Amino acid sequence: MTVPKVLVIDDDADARSAIELALKTRGYELFFATDGADGLDIFRRESPIVTLLDLRMPVMDGTEFLKAVCPSPESPYAIIMLTGHADDSEVEVCYELGIHAFLRKPFNIYELNGAIEQNIKLKQAQISLQQLNKKLDKLATFDTLTGLYNRAMLVEHLQQAIRRASRSRQSFGLFYFDIDNFKKVNDACGHSVGDELLQQVSKRVGQLIRSSDILARMGGDEFVLLTEGMQKSADLATMAGDILREIAAEIYIGRQPVHVSCSIGISVYPDCGSTPEELIKTADMAMYKAKDAGRNCYKFYSAKMNAAVSAQLTMENNIKQALKRGEFSIHYQPKVDHQAGTVSGAEALIRWHHPKLGNISPAEFIPVAEKSDLIVEIGKWVREQVCRQLARWRQQSLPLLPVSVNVSAIEFLKCEVLQHVIDLLLQHDIDPHLLELEVTESTLMASVEQGNMDYEIITLMDTGLAIDDFGTGYSSLGYLKSYPVDTLKIDKSFIDNVTASERDAAIVKAMISMAHSLDIRVVAEGVETAAQRDFLHRHGCDFIQGYFYSRPLPVAEFEAFVREFRGRPAVRCG
Ligand code: C2E
Ligand code: CA
Ligand code: CA
Repeated sequence: MTVPKVLVIDDDADARSAIELALKTRGYELFFATDGADGLDIFRRESPIVTLLDLRMPVMDGTEFLKAVCPSPESPYAIIMLTGHADDSEVEVCYELGIHAFLRKPFNIYELNGAIEQNIKLKQAQISLQQLNKKLDKLATFDTLTGLYNRAMLVEHLQQAIRRASRSRQSFGLFYFDIDNFKKVNDACGHSVGDELLQQVSKRVGQLIRSSDILARMGGDEFVLLTEGMQKSADLATMAGDILREIAAEIYIGRQPVHVSCSIGISVYPDCGSTPEELIKTADMAMYKAKDAGRNCYKFYSAKMNAAVSAQLTMENNIKQALKRGEFSIHYQPKVDHQAGTVSGAEALIRWHHPKLGNISPAEFIPVAEKSDLIVEIGKWVREQVCRQLARWRQQSLPLLPVSVNVSAIEFLKCEVLQHVIDLLLQHDIDPHLLELEVTESTLMASVEQGNMDYEIITLMDTGLAIDDFGTGYSSLGYLKSYPVDTLKIDKSFIDNVTASERDAAIVKAMISMAHSLDIRVVAEGVETAAQRDFLHRHGCDFIQGYFYSRPLPVAEFEAFVREFRGRPAVRCG
């Protein structure tokens, strides 16, 4: 036990001596101050368990001292007021300010000692109780070996995560993992090595996760990770792969290298369960699947998810191969100016011919590429091919038509699209008017918000900007006004029914006139019939793109199409 510290604050030297005399042989460490300000300094520095406080003092009196300290019944110290002249109302004020006891001068030695001793005992008991509670709280929240959350806290966080996810209609993932053959290590090397291994594993996984993730130890060598940020199972799979690699790397315990691996089961809310218990259970079951599959791997609880993830990974590999082996090509779909009877430009669309699987539609592989960084490489490749083609047409003295390329949102996030375009235009000496970027409404909004799309730059560059799939996204038309949008492409879904549905007809008409009022040209996408073409012609749509005129074509066929089209008469209709 440490020696109890007692502080005496009194301006009266006689009173101080008397107190010193009374307490000298009691085994306290004594401190003396001659006014409240001096007393406050010592109080803060020494944290005395008992302070004897005079009321009337120069510089800072007793009540001011109390106001500065704010004592309460829970304080880990006692303040005893010790004063000669105080009326009842003053005493009451001191109690209100939090003093723990009151003694009147002149004091009796026994009375003083009794009060001090009693308060010390009381406060010491209180302090140990508080410390014990803190320890118990920590025990109830954290795992003592690793400092990670324990099961009870995990369940609590899971409940919150479920509430958040159900409100925002999002999903989240739960990883259940343990160390393969932990028992063997424990038995062979001893429990202290086992304990250290668990600590190192939790530290390593702890370094991989984000601050918002919850890592818990369930007991033994079993851990659970709750991660809310990831929506795609492919991202969860990547994270699981990172954990596997991290744990499989050599771990040193003392000087001794230890090699272990782990097995991970993944459950996803809400697909695999809607309560904490269900999610933990399904992740645990998935972990056993991973063990059955030979350990050192991860498995999703649902077979569907396992299949989806492995399909995604296979596709990603195929795309990488395709880029290397040159399996991609570009087709050009003409855009027709039906009022003038000319081909006004083309959209570049990527095509993939796989040596074994045949043709794979961009609708199938572009979304996969967007989930990984592959879309960045694909995007660059497409823009490069298109610029080369434009340069070739110029060399061959063929008519130069503007070509538009599709740019995905992810590309704006992950690479400097505009810089790449500028580089290409300079490198191939191409008129910026000949290149147009097609982005969807949501891409546009997101890239603006994230500062990845600079309008001043786009305006300066003089390349065209088209809004793709118009009508399917936010459709908050207001933003069109403030951005340098040149072209609006009405989505095929509106064109499909334009001659059958009055509602769609009205929407298309409104889009055209709104765009025109903002000096924006309109392309109708997916036009397949003469009736659709006629409707669009009547309502002043500028350009037509669709199978009615032509499918996307390989370069040579596209060139032939442009040649032949020039000989055709302009459209005349209703
Ligand atoms: P999108 O940008 O909306 O492109 C138009 C799609 O509609 C093309 O499909 C085109 O072949 C098709 N299409 C055009 N006219 C008609 C028609 O009259 N009827 C029908 N049924 N379809 C028509 P495709 O080439 O399969 O491309 C699908 C999507 O893949 C594109 O939709 C685009 O979002 C994406 N994509 C294609 N190439 C690229 C690319 O190089 N980069 C990026 N980021 N995305 C691309
Ligand atoms: Ca497009
Ligand atoms: Ca489109």
